[in-house]
Amino acid sequence: MKIDRSTELFRAACTVIPGGVNSPVRAFQAVGGNPLFIARAEGAYLEDADGNRYVDYIGSWGPMILGHNHPAVREAVLEALASGTSFGAPTEREVELARLVSEITGAQKIRFVNSGTEATMSALRLARGFTGRKLIVKFRGNYHGHADGLLVQAGSGLMTTSAQLGGSAPSSAGVPPEYASLTLVAEYNDPAGLRELMRERGDEVAAVIFEPVVGNAGVLIPTPEFLAALHAVREHGALLIADEVMTGFRLAPAGATERLGLEPDLICWGKVIGGGLPVGAYGGRAEIMNFVSPEGPVYQAGTLSGNPLAMAAGLATLRQLRAHPEIYASVDAYTEGLARGLQAAAHAFGIPVTINRIGSMLTVFFLEGAVNDYQDATRADTERFGRWFRSMLEQGVYWAPSQFESIFVSGAHGEQELEITLKAAQKAFSLL
Ligand code: PMP
Repeated sequence: MKIDRSTELFRAACTVIPGGVNSPVRAFQAVGGNPLFIARAEGAYLEDADGNRYVDYIGSWGPMILGHNHPAVREAVLEALASGTSFGAPTEREVELARLVSEITGAQKIRFVNSGTEATMSALRLARGFTGRKLIVKFRGNYHGHADGLLVQAGSGLMTTSAQLGGSAPSSAGVPPEYASLTLVAEYNDPAGLRELMRERGDEVAAVIFEPVVGNAGVLIPTPEFLAALHAVREHGALLIADEVMTGFRLAPAGATERLGLEPDLICWGKVIGGGLPVGAYGGRAEIMNFVSPEGPVYQAGTLSGNPLAMAAGLATLRQLRAHPEIYASVDAYTEGLARGLQAAAHAFGIPVTINRIGSMLTVFFLEGAVNDYQDATRADTERFGRWFRSMLEQGVYWAPSQFESIFVSGAHGEQELEITLKAAQKAFSLL
């Protein structure tokens, strides 16, 4: 595989961009080698700067549930573009998208922002403003974006780049420990631990934020007992915030909330809600959302929030999903077939793996035994995963370049892509 142009671009990038990338997991730090520079994408495929084509399992880290460059999304963006790119004043599309999100999810009011990070950061400020309390609770290995108070025992790229310290110690330099100390950390899928923490500090806790299905430590699936303990935090007056940035509009029309039967007070969205353009959002009951400025005292703003192109992409994406609900069954079936095929291939070559899957999210953990929490995930053989990843890439399959991430399947993935992927996987396992 010739990657001369990507290599050249990466060298140039490193001279002007820290690490050559604008988001750490893109750097291939966890798997070795240099990142590929992508020139274009269509359906289930990415094409790099050297003209190599790959079956894509990143899907821009979640947004591209319809596949890349979907005609309905492209046309909606082009139509919006013809009227100008940003006005800094309200537009009709914001109302349409808010209405649609409200209809699909049941959230009474929604505020649009520009990323998942902004959504969770703003929802937590709102929870603090609403409850008048200071502390928040998060779970080890969950990632909610890079706001200061959330870079504590965080997953995603931090599982590769930082040694995780205990307690409320920040996972990143530059986060004052005093600030991080307002974030309490509990174990995912440990209902007793959560109950204990809430018994001790519950009356100081403004909100408990969680990934309903974790994607950022690799895929972790919550147990019913853990979900019950999460809902019980409200008995202490804390708000329950579901971070559906990855799962929203992906695991079901109304995300994990629908699929798992959750009743959060606030929900954060990102990724699919913007159809590949920068959109995040948070929403919930009007009684809480009315605390947001200018209606209420919790300040939150954005020059480009509700951007017309971004709203157009989000609207087109959610409308497509609504018009074609069968897409959920199709991505589920594909991903289930993928899980079965990968398990069989690994088994055939004696490679121990544990595959966690729900809907179109999946992680192949290179280890033996169940993976239910952060600690389990960290037992994975990341060196072996790296070799498997590189072999897949050389064979034209672009997997997530870290053991601790989910892959994302789109409606554009079909039989042909499954066949290419499983054939590549067999060879990759055979070489380990
Ligand atoms: N929450 C979750 C669950 C996420 O997976 C991510 C990003 N992967 C974020 C928040 C942050 O979103 P963004 O990268 O758009 O800021």
